[in-house]
Amino acid sequence: MTARIIDGKAFAAGLRTRIAADVAALKQARGIVPGLTVVLVGDDPASQVYVRNKGVQTREAGMQSDEIRLPATTSQAELLAVVTRLNADPAVHGILVQFPVPKQIDPDAVIMAIDPAKDVDGLHPVNVGRLALGQEGFVSCTPQGCLMLLKDVLGDLSGADALVIGRSGLVGRPMANLLIRENCTVTVAHSKSRDLPSVTRRADIVVAAVGRPEMVRGDWLKPGATVIDVGMNRIALPDGKTRLIGDVAYAEAVEVAGAITPVPGGVGPMTIACLLRNTLIAATPK
Ligand code: NAP
Repeated sequence: MTARIIDGKAFAAGLRTRIAADVAALKQARGIVPGLTVVLVGDDPASQVYVRNKGVQTREAGMQSDEIRLPATTSQAELLAVVTRLNADPAVHGILVQFPVPKQIDPDAVIMAIDPAKDVDGLHPVNVGRLALGQEGFVSCTPQGCLMLLKDVLGDLSGADALVIGRSGLVGRPMANLLIRENCTVTVAHSKSRDLPSVTRRADIVVAAVGRPEMVRGDWLKPGATVIDVGMNRIALPDGKTRLIGDVAYAEAVEVAGAITPVPGGVGPMTIACLLRNTLIAATPK
């Protein structure tokens, strides 16, 4: 059996087109232009690339995109003052502080300072709590994108055995809560889990969010399982170049799984598309 390849790039492009149409309609009907402000502290090269991509795609969707770049020496108080100002600005509907922040700044204090109604990253404890309680709120973008892909492939997820490998606040935990909301039977594995291959073999759905290149092997999978690979691991090649690979051994898994996301081109493009979706929701009058 060869798995169906889940084309996240195409799905995300379609989602962005639908968002752009809704943005145009909101502008015409209510005169509202959704605005996203990204705050970048320091000069981490990977963050610069992410922020640039976010800006391009936000503008392409017809939204207002602003970037605030602060030096690596910025104090926590200075960053919190910027966040407070953005909270009060009616033209700003979504605020995203790009992590990681320099070590003198406590990321939790920054997240706490963001108005939950503008927390388009879905990281504020109010939004995390709403998700955990099954209530409406902003959901972290990457797991939201994973769920969209899963529903596109499988339709109704009710009753499926779902395994989430990883329990981070950014991916694993919100993913597990989303799958509970979809009536899956959810297992969450982490670095202390015992006999992960056996646990994985029971799962109809496997979401791998670990950060370990090709950790999940093909013979760990139940035949026909749907595999969502969140991992983005940049590995060095002998010729000095680098390559992005996932947490799943793709060449093996594709022979066993029913459907699988590639890396790149699977989950990655969904994250920014879901950020745009959250910003549109934040800008739409309730
Ligand atoms: P993270 O905060 O480092 O969390 C990793 C999780 O994996 C932890 O819960 C850890 O367990 C668990 N883990 C580590 N080693 C393990 C092992 N041997 N067996 C089972 N579980 C293990 O990472 P993250 O932020 O969730 O990101 C995970 C991956 O997704 C990374 O590759 C990241 O680059 C990628 N990512 C991609 C996107 C995207 O847009 N595609 C977005 C975000 C993240 P403990 O809790 O016990 O330490």
